[in-house]
Amino acid sequence: METTKRMMLFPFMAQGHLIPFLQLAQLIERRNGYSITLINTPSNIRNLRSYLPTSSSVHLSSLPFNPSDHGLPPGHESMDSLPFHLLFPLYKATESLRPAFTRFVSDALSLDPTSPLCIIADPYLGWTVDVAEELGVFHAFFVTGSERSTAIYHSLWTLWPLQWSHSDELALPNRPNVRLHRSQVTKLLLYGDDNNPIFVFFCRQIAHFCKSDGVIVNTAEEFERSGVEFLKEESGGMPVWAVGPLLRVPSTPSSDDTHIGWLAGHPPDSVLYVSFGSMNTISASQMVELAMGLEASGTAFMWVIRPPSGFDFKGGFREEWLPEGFEERMREQNRGVLIHGWAPQMEILSHGSTGAFLSHCGWNSVLESLCNGVPIIGWPIAGEQFYNSMMMVEEIGVCVEIARGNGNESVVCREDVERIVRSVMMGGEGEEMRRKAREVGEVLRAAVGEGGASVRAMDDFLRTALPTMA
Ligand code: UDP
Repeated sequence: METTKRMMLFPFMAQGHLIPFLQLAQLIERRNGYSITLINTPSNIRNLRSYLPTSSSVHLSSLPFNPSDHGLPPGHESMDSLPFHLLFPLYKATESLRPAFTRFVSDALSLDPTSPLCIIADPYLGWTVDVAEELGVFHAFFVTGSERSTAIYHSLWTLWPLQWSHSDELALPNRPNVRLHRSQVTKLLLYGDDNNPIFVFFCRQIAHFCKSDGVIVNTAEEFERSGVEFLKEESGGMPVWAVGPLLRVPSTPSSDDTHIGWLAGHPPDSVLYVSFGSMNTISASQMVELAMGLEASGTAFMWVIRPPSGFDFKGGFREEWLPEGFEERMREQNRGVLIHGWAPQMEILSHGSTGAFLSHCGWNSVLESLCNGVPIIGWPIAGEQFYNSMMMVEEIGVCVEIARGNGNESVVCREDVERIVRSVMMGGEGEEMRRKAREVGEVLRAAVGEGGASVRAMDDFLRTALPTMA
């Protein structure tokens, strides 16, 4: 009888990491013969349970974690529920999980020494490489962002002091065609200082990155070929397995789902979906410009709206943050819907009435949009989102940017919003982007379909990580 092979998955605490890790767990679950455990802190495990069908055999296990021991507010165990100044305590707190994780894996090994085991961890949890080495098990990192952004980060963090010149443009020595404007690396530059704990924390993660046995990435090689090559070079020739896109299957909308019902009342490709992901927001003044621009564009829209930056992200929404009477006017004209809270994003993007996505360009949002053939209006706000947006414009041709590299200080005006939204929703430019997005969607779906490149990459990863014993 064949032994069960064990996979232990350990994501970083943020929705954009937890969700793809759960999808990876479910993807491996579909192959027979694997016992899969996803590990995290108690409240993240509770949330993940609600995403997992009751029929799933994926085990969810929590490690003891008390947020207040790390200066975090009670119940706050995830990056998306924390203001910016508390991110570092959360990063730091992840290191405190090491003893409990080591015990967890070593108990599993002693309980069943004959079943092989592999750790798949988040690159933010670089220390898991040392645990794997100590216990003699295979280790892979799972990168939930795009290849290109990961490779750029790598390049910036490892070579940063050598690369920056006095000009406003930064060229990566090994990628002359990737040029970054000063404003796109502002945050990284702020961290480029040995006295800054965030800089030191990330440098440590990068140092660990290259010690792993390989990297799994949420992309399809055919879609992001140059990024995959770039990452292979950056990581010194480590195996890179492109197994994506990992996507949630949209649930069948029920007739009483108000958002989907509203979309159904609109013609094909006529609604703009607007969302800045699970944790980013724009400033109050930008919110007004966006609202005015949307109103002036004449386009129907569905906007996932949260308190502006500087206000409690999970707090109540105040009408004063929007132009007077905006929400009511849009409702009366059947022009726009504001979603206060969590939106059923996959269901919205897969609906035929959705014609474009105004997005912060988080990697999951990019993949979800393109798999559904929906073009993007890029409004990147932080981190890798700039690189994702830039790649979608320059390499893939499925995106037009409203804001580039200005982050929360951006000065997007209502006229820009109106002009760009009109051209994407009503003009020829939008038609062309939609055609390309559909083509890209086919490439992405083929990669994860029968015999596709991502399926073959997953076969190869499983064979390499846990080979069948003769
Ligand atoms: N998401 C969602 N509803 C929301 C906001 C986000 O379902 O109201 C999901 C979205 O579908 C995606 C993830 O949360 O899977 C956000 O990940 P992404 O990488 O796009 O951005 P992040 O939130 O990490 O910045």
